[in-house]
Amino acid sequence: MDSQPKDNLAGAAMRVEPDILYISAPVNALVEGIFQADTRLGEIRRHGDFALGTFNHLDGEMVMLDGHTYQVTGTGEVHPVSDDVCSPFAIATFFRELSRDDLAEGFSSVEDLFAKLGQLFPSENMMYALRIDGCFSLVRTRSVPRQEHYRPLVEITRNQPTFERADVEGSLIGFHTPSFMSSLNVPGIHLHFLSDDRTFGGHLLQCRARHARVRLQILRRLRMDLPTSLAYLTTDFSRDTAGDLAEAESEKKAPATPA
Ligand SMILES: [Zn+2]
Repeated sequence: MDSQPKDNLAGAAMRVEPDILYISAPVNALVEGIFQADTRLGEIRRHGDFALGTFNHLDGEMVMLDGHTYQVTGTGEVHPVSDDVCSPFAIATFFRELSRDDLAEGFSSVEDLFAKLGQLFPSENMMYALRIDGCFSLVRTRSVPRQEHYRPLVEITRNQPTFERADVEGSLIGFHTPSFMSSLNVPGIHLHFLSDDRTFGGHLLQCRARHARVRLQILRRLRMDLPTSLAYLTTDFSRDTAGDLAEAESEKKAPATPA
């Protein structure tokens, strides 16, 4: 029997558990076209101050940085988001850097960046939160226009609006997920961009940076909610969706990913 005073117990309950990745719904649900959930942003913020994802009806890209959430719309505009907006898929953590590395020479492409990040990872088999602040000579992003009618995700992501900005300071926000978790979260490195002036952002497709600082957090635990909607409860998830998700992630075949 715990004999701690009630006040201490209440304090313990309020403490934030560190280094947990929160997933609001398995990404497979999004891939299978479940674009609505009743998970409010206010709920997601209980699990992190650093997040990415999308909104109900696939209405743009979500970027949360330092506890502030932004929606990058299908026309490329960036708006702050209120806590009552709902999301069908978001991943979040309370960001606290474990390591910090300066890329003084920057990087020449997203492939070059991913190679450099790979050298910083202690292992491919862990989850990481990544924050990369830098001076970017080029950033290309995409977002998703709001979907009024159901279409398969992979079809939607074949024709996505893309946006480019040169000479922009900002942050890449994202996560690395082991490949064996691909039904729960986008496998590999998944990054969204947000400019320092909060006027440009989206799902990262390509970038070059003059210099950058990488901050890394190892996430050792996972917490995930499962949707309770009829659509989720009655969907057949036996199909292998890895190909659809990979296509949605790749710029050459499709300039987009759902979240
Ligand atoms: Zn994304």
